[in-house]
Amino acid sequence: MDTDVLVVGAGPTGLMLANQLGRRGVRALIIDRHAGPSVQTRALGVQARTLEIYAHLGIVERALELGKRATGANMWVQGRRAARIPFGDIGRGLSPYPFLLILGQDDNERLLGEALQEQSMAVQWNTELVGLAQESHQVKAKLKRPDGAIGEIAAAWVAGCDGAHSAVRELSGIAFEGAPYEHVFFVADTQMTGPMVPDEVNIYLWREGFHLFFPMRGTDHWRLVGIVPADMRGRDDLTFEDVIPAMRQQTGTELSFKACSWFSTYRIHHRRAARFRDGRCFVLGDAAHVHSPVGAQGMNTGLQDAYNLAWKLALVVSGGAGTALLDSYADERVPVAQRLLSSTDRAFSLVVSDSWLAGLFRTRILAKIAAFAMSLDRIRRFAFRTISQIGISYRDSPLSETLAGLPDNAPRAGDRFPWLQLKFEPNGPTEDLFGRLDDTRFNLIVIGQASPPGGVAELGELLRIHEVPNDSANDRELARARIPRPSFFLLRPDGHVGLAGTRLDAAAATRYVCERLHIGTQGA
Ligand SMILES: Cc1cc2nc3c(=O)[nH]c(=O)nc-3n(C[C@H](O)[C@H](O)[C@H](O)COP(=O)(O)OP(=O)(O)OC[C@H]3O[C@@H](n4cnc5c(N)ncnc54)[C@H](O)[C@@H]3O)c2cc1C
Repeated sequence: MDTDVLVVGAGPTGLMLANQLGRRGVRALIIDRHAGPSVQTRALGVQARTLEIYAHLGIVERALELGKRATGANMWVQGRRAARIPFGDIGRGLSPYPFLLILGQDDNERLLGEALQEQSMAVQWNTELVGLAQESHQVKAKLKRPDGAIGEIAAAWVAGCDGAHSAVRELSGIAFEGAPYEHVFFVADTQMTGPMVPDEVNIYLWREGFHLFFPMRGTDHWRLVGIVPADMRGRDDLTFEDVIPAMRQQTGTELSFKACSWFSTYRIHHRRAARFRDGRCFVLGDAAHVHSPVGAQGMNTGLQDAYNLAWKLALVVSGGAGTALLDSYADERVPVAQRLLSSTDRAFSLVVSDSWLAGLFRTRILAKIAAFAMSLDRIRRFAFRTISQIGISYRDSPLSETLAGLPDNAPRAGDRFPWLQLKFEPNGPTEDLFGRLDDTRFNLIVIGQASPPGGVAELGELLRIHEVPNDSANDRELARARIPRPSFFLLRPDGHVGLAGTRLDAAAATRYVCERLHIGTQGA
């Protein structure tokens, strides 16, 4: 076997997967058909859940230094500012990163690439996957090398992180179901001035559509996203200069452009792979789902697909779990993609609809409703949970088991365990729970009771135990998250609760681990 995992594609998804496999000691080979890293900014929004994962990877400080926190969004109609929605620390108390970070995809890829190098792993550029043949214990992959020669390697598993036109998906015969939207979009990285509120998102609404202006690093540097005017659709030679007059008219403002460093048009599709796994091959990121950019979810969802699959692949490769564990990747991530496609589709249809009623809604009502709704604490927190992806839960997964006795409003199996500040020693310092969790292992959080002597034998060194002693500050923090005492939560390496209950019963934990990880069944 040449490698345990062949990662095809070194976009954000492939880089995240290779990093997470490397941290868990898996031999992975990552290839990309391009000559080097992408220099296009493409995705811009980094969500809180991604930043939490970046913290474990050791790159969050650098991401925060390079990026800008989105402090608010301003909605403009006919040259007038109709509403401002303050973001501030919209998710205060819910995440160590209670905001949306604006940081270009190129910067994200650079940080992920540097983290990979620190593990002495490197992308093999100019190397394209051109063929796949599955056998019972391995996959033979045909690779086109930089000199044009085609060679073959054997991998135990193949991860298709190769974007919307995925070769892994196509060679595996997995359908990409969905359709393109009728509208054509443009994106431009510009240096410009105008009435936009600096350092904030500015949204210009007009009868037939919208323009988004995102602040970027540097002086007067804005990323623009807009709809190509209907009479220009289908033109291959379109330039940024061509769309400027329509944009000035639609925004109703004086915009002064100094430079445009990148201009691209694209037709958005909403599609999902019919299956996320075919035998020893998986699809992740844009290879598995593409949708409209509404809500800045695309890149983040791919990163989290990788985070979900990595710990499972690592356990199977090391022989710590049976191969059936890998079924849970699709069980958990297909519903996430399905929900994402339907919610972004609904939101997108509303913001681009050509209908008279939708135009009226966009220019007269949308700004007022959005500003009112986002002034309500409950709605702000709901919006943050949803958009930041911290609210993603796998309650219906075969890996999730909530034992009887835990109140309905407590965190349940499948949920991302909440972010808490707790004391782990009586009279000790208050610590950030997420800082203590080791995401290369399972973490058992034991509240108001003694932990089992000897831990959970089947997990051995793969388990960290965190006892939360009785303490009034702990009580307040636990009550905030509706966590009863006594209780326990066995967290999977990705921070989602696997097993939850009240009185910790070592036998139940052992049974859970053996059954759900398929220990003792066929290995990798
Ligand atoms: C113009 C544009 C603007 C966008 N704007 C936004 C935005 O504002 N917000 C947002 O969230 N998302 C946006 N997106 C989407 C976002 O860029 C993607 O969701 C993200 O790039 C997905 O990452 P990925 O790693 O899954 O795939 P990709 O970034 O597409 O990476 C796939 C990699 O696989 C490589 N590859 C492909 N085939 C092979 C092969 N056969 N062999 C070897 N390597 C191969 C490619 O070279 C590429 O490097 C935008 C996309 C485009 C095109």
